[in-house]
Amino acid sequence: MNPDCIFCKIAAGQEPACVVFEDNISLAFLDMRPVFYGHTLLIPKKHFTTMMEFPDEMIYGFFSNLKLVSRAVEDAMGSQGIFNAINNRISQSVPHLHVHILPRSKGDGMRHFLWPRKLYESMDEADKTAGAIRQTLERLKNTPNGQ
Ligand code: AMP
Repeated sequence: MNPDCIFCKIAAGQEPACVVFEDNISLAFLDMRPVFYGHTLLIPKKHFTTMMEFPDEMIYGFFSNLKLVSRAVEDAMGSQGIFNAINNRISQSVPHLHVHILPRSKGDGMRHFLWPRKLYESMDEADKTAGAIRQTLERLKNTPNGQ
């Protein structure tokens, strides 16, 4: 537990939260400043700052819970869909890994995620960008723990 972390304190029961789900590895609670009612955050109970440091062996359980809670939020709020989002470092106001689970419906007015967009200047620019990512992936795949 990180004693300075608000989400660690919530996980430890030291700070209040409207908890909707809990198991041994994760906790889901309402975001206190929701984009829409039902906006929920799923966190690992253990402190990890970003998704990039999250251990592989926890992914299955954690993402199974993400599916379950996302389905529950969609059904309970009567929404047409769900938006899941993770801010890693940039735009991340709480440095404890958390997945946003937002009920979405057509015409709900949400605009600010994944926006604004732009075009690649050319196909060549897009190919170069994809090439850089592919090359880095090869390096990471051949490195223990993907570091
Ligand atoms: P992000 O900006 O992606 O790091 O999201 C952090 C989210 O945590 C924001 O949407 C906040 O409204 C929410 N938040 C911060 N503190 C609390 C808290 N004590 N209880 C519930 N939600 C919180």
